[in-house]
Amino acid sequence: MQLEKLLRDRDIAFVVTTADTGSMGAPRLGKNLVTRSIKQMNKDQVMDWHNFYPLHVIYSFLSSLEQQYPSRCTVHCIGYTVEGREIKMLKISSSHAGNSGAWLDGAIHAREWISAAVVTYIAHHLATHFDALPESVTNKDWYLVPVLNPDGYVHTHVNDRMWRKNRARHDNKIVGVDLNRNFGPSINSRGEGASVDPNHLNYRGPAPFSEPETAALRDTILNSVVPFKLFLTFHAFSEAIAFPWGATHEPCPDYVPLLEGATVMAKAIEQTSGRLYKVGAFKDIMYRAEGTSIDWSYGTAFIPFSYLIELRSKQHKFLLPNDEIEETCKEILSGVLALAEHVDKQTCVNLK
Ligand SMILES: [Zn+2]
Repeated sequence: MQLEKLLRDRDIAFVVTTADTGSMGAPRLGKNLVTRSIKQMNKDQVMDWHNFYPLHVIYSFLSSLEQQYPSRCTVHCIGYTVEGREIKMLKISSSHAGNSGAWLDGAIHAREWISAAVVTYIAHHLATHFDALPESVTNKDWYLVPVLNPDGYVHTHVNDRMWRKNRARHDNKIVGVDLNRNFGPSINSRGEGASVDPNHLNYRGPAPFSEPETAALRDTILNSVVPFKLFLTFHAFSEAIAFPWGATHEPCPDYVPLLEGATVMAKAIEQTSGRLYKVGAFKDIMYRAEGTSIDWSYGTAFIPFSYLIELRSKQHKFLLPNDEIEETCKEILSGVLALAEHVDKQTCVNLK
């Protein structure tokens, strides 16, 4: 159906109430569907943090920041998804030589919509207040990817709200890979927390970095000349700040500084909203997982302060009510700013 294609191309959420309108009162049903859709298309959606938004609104928002603040904001396409969508990154930078790098990504897991909202909120804050922000912010190049898994994200908006993985095929069937199990190198150990079964929610994929989304992240970081200091990947919904390792029970070499950093963040969050986020090594406070991005960013890319942040909410799980979006964004922004300041005073052993 042409309308369906039109809506899908524009990432506009819709529900097909019947697949065949030919045999019934088609004009009435067709009119309603068209009226609603045109209304949505004509509505010039502007990003805010009172609703969740589809991919095209998020991407327009990134472009609008680039247009408004061209001296510090640039949008980059860092790769293409399985279905050919762009993976867009906003870089915010003072362009000072000697800056370190800070990576933030959201929606690596498609259904965790609040993570994309948090990354756009932080992008908005940094871009609009940059000149007034402390040196601990302006001495970093900020790499923000609000939707690392665009195919999956679109799928959750138009088809299946609970989809987690990307849209990779296996045996000509869309099964999806759990992108947060697709980072090497522990992927080959066939241990816990990453499945070899394509139908499993935690399917790790056929090989490390087999997926264009994880390869895009890896290549952007490894090809950058900037030494990254921070790596923050946002998820939902356990309300926790976790750091490596996820794959092993051994403490990582920077267990103490990472725990301190997590505590600084958690304190700033609590002071902002009263919310208590758990802190600890991933395998201690979550479960054991192999092939996660934080194990790779810390262990292979040598980014010392690598955190996986589980946002709200334990109560509503993936279906966070709209009226909690902004408060979640505010508490996490406080945490990130506090962490950015804290890490400048710290040294880790895991530096290149
Ligand atoms: Zn997740």
